[in-house]
Amino acid sequence: MINRLKVLYELQNIDDQLDDLEELRGDLPKAVEDLEAQIESIKSTISEKEQQRKESMDKRKENESQIEISKESQKKFKAQLYKVRNNKEYDALTKEIDHTEELIAKYETENNELADMSKTLADEIETIKPKLDELNEEVKKKQSDLKVIIKANEKEEEKLNESRKKLVTQIKKGDLSAYMRIRKAKKGKAVSTIKRSACSGCHNIVPSQRQLELRQNNRLYYCEYCGRILVSAEVSESVAV
Ligand SMILES: [Zn+2]
Repeated sequence: MINRLKVLYELQNIDDQLDDLEELRGDLPKAVEDLEAQIESIKSTISEKEQQRKESMDKRKENESQIEISKESQKKFKAQLYKVRNNKEYDALTKEIDHTEELIAKYETENNELADMSKTLADEIETIKPKLDELNEEVKKKQSDLKVIIKANEKEEEKLNESRKKLVTQIKKGDLSAYMRIRKAKKGKAVSTIKRSACSGCHNIVPSQRQLELRQNNRLYYCEYCGRILVSAEVSESVAV
């Protein structure tokens, strides 16, 4: 039974050391993450604008070929004007010519608007791009700072993770999930011990009856104030820090 408690205390010990290493990284991981998110968002804005620009250019090309077609048919109608035999035919042809004229004007207006839009989009893209370069520079710098810190502690971290992995296999599933749950709720500290008759986690005095029970090391006790797993000094002292 005492081993069941020891492994939990040992796990806390390793996690404390891993937490310390994590702390050395400061706010760098978060800063990198934020920058990466900003970069992603700007990139997608740029690609949206580029897509809109491409669509507007495609539409302009399409309109241009429509203008060509309309001009061609207008030419034909105008040629036919010379061959008309009566007013009715003349009126019909003039109507067609007017219609093609309207069509051409419509496509041309639309193309002017599309050209303006395309220009606006291109300007917008040009305005955003320097910001993207700036953020890329910044993230590169922070990533390399972070890499230096990680690299400096890489071996130690690897060793700790290795020991943690081995240790976890010796811990009961239920104990481990309780440990993980409390660790999450209590900012990393799931196991506490008795120090000067108090819980080392919350500093509340542990009743002497409970202290006696704890010293028997025969079951899992939780601090009645903070909910942490409470182990006796015998357990904590047996685990080398
Ligand atoms: Zn406590």
